[in-house]
Amino acid sequence: MSPAHSKRTIRDIDLQGRRVFLRVDYNVQLDEHGFVFDDLRLRESLPTIEYLREAGARIVICSHRGRPRGEVVETLRNAPVARHLGSLLGAPVASTEDCIGLEAYAAVEALKPGDVLLLENVRFHPGEEANDPEFAWQLASLADVYVGDAFGTAHRAHASIVGVPEYLPAVAGLLMDREIDYLRRLSDNPEHPFALVLGGAKVADKIGILNHLCGESNVICVGGGVANTFLSTQGIDIADSLWDAEGVPDARHVFEQVEARPDLRLYLPVDAIVGFGAADRDHVRRAPVDHVPSGWRILDIGPATIELFRSALEPMRTVVWNGPLGWFEREPFDHGSLAMAEMLADLDGTVVVGGGETAAVVQRAGVADRINHVSTGGAASLAMLQGKPLPGEAALDDA
Ligand code: ADP
Ligand code: MG
Repeated sequence: MSPAHSKRTIRDIDLQGRRVFLRVDYNVQLDEHGFVFDDLRLRESLPTIEYLREAGARIVICSHRGRPRGEVVETLRNAPVARHLGSLLGAPVASTEDCIGLEAYAAVEALKPGDVLLLENVRFHPGEEANDPEFAWQLASLADVYVGDAFGTAHRAHASIVGVPEYLPAVAGLLMDREIDYLRRLSDNPEHPFALVLGGAKVADKIGILNHLCGESNVICVGGGVANTFLSTQGIDIADSLWDAEGVPDARHVFEQVEARPDLRLYLPVDAIVGFGAADRDHVRRAPVDHVPSGWRILDIGPATIELFRSALEPMRTVVWNGPLGWFEREPFDHGSLAMAEMLADLDGTVVVGGGETAAVVQRAGVADRINHVSTGGAASLAMLQGKPLPGEAALDDA
């Protein structure tokens, strides 16, 4: 896929000595000792920070953490995140006790080119989620340039996402640029043949993606609870499996589209791993999807389905995957999802993975570095896969 940059990025502007307001998504949790335990979001921001440091920018990082609802919450302060970021960068990262006001202003003024500061949690102020222009102006007054790199929060029209860019030249960071590039090109002009792999619990959560990407698709593989609803729409008795009755009309509509288009094929599971009751080790077995014993539940795709999906996906030039294919939080029902992660890692074509849980599957399978793009933004990546505009992207200057 060729690049489709539509927004100016940090590569397009002079940054030497300039104060850069860098909005990132460091919405990470701390363990009981107050340390960051999953630092993926911090590591994903390092290329941008390192680029800005080398360009001689004075870096003022802004992030929210958790849901303090406009008040100071001691356990949601950013100082522990600043310490962790410092250890990743191998350089000190200063922090402040408020993201606006005199202390923040003085801390910014003390920065020399290449220095890094992490402001206090921006959601300690109600003006952030309310997108209050006065609050946005106070944040903007700390800097000369705005860099949007908080892809995971780009679907929110908050002050530090859409308000601050109104007052400053606004460009994309490297993470934002990469995310938008991969996800936008899927709907604009993907390389064909194109496949969509869809799982997850409910059709309602996925129908937007199906509707948006169906037109480009040549192959659609469906697993998870979503497949159960499709199977049940076909009149198959899936016993006690999870499915959603409200999804039936949507599933029916997909069947109609597939029937009308000879260049589109739909693959549903042919066999399943089923569980009974608590689904402990003695109550797990394989079954064809049309022979699920009564009282049992489909909890993963079976080996024949894995092979069916594999042969369908092998010739694809582009594959998008959203939604685990089974109850992956629980062994052995993670097998189908892990097998999908591995098969996509081996694929020659371009592979893009979106969605919080699906990204977790790819991480767990240990193949993230062999997949072209694993989106870091759960809800934001789903919004893009549904073709919805992202406020945090729209707020940036056009290239
Ligand atoms: P994402 O966050 O990547 O968009 P979803 O939130 O749509 O993914 O779906 C993830 C959930 O779907 C997981 O919690 C998983 O356990 C559940 N799930 C998938 N298949 C099944 C199934 N057959 N039975 C029960 N739960 C399932
Ligand atoms: Mg989810």
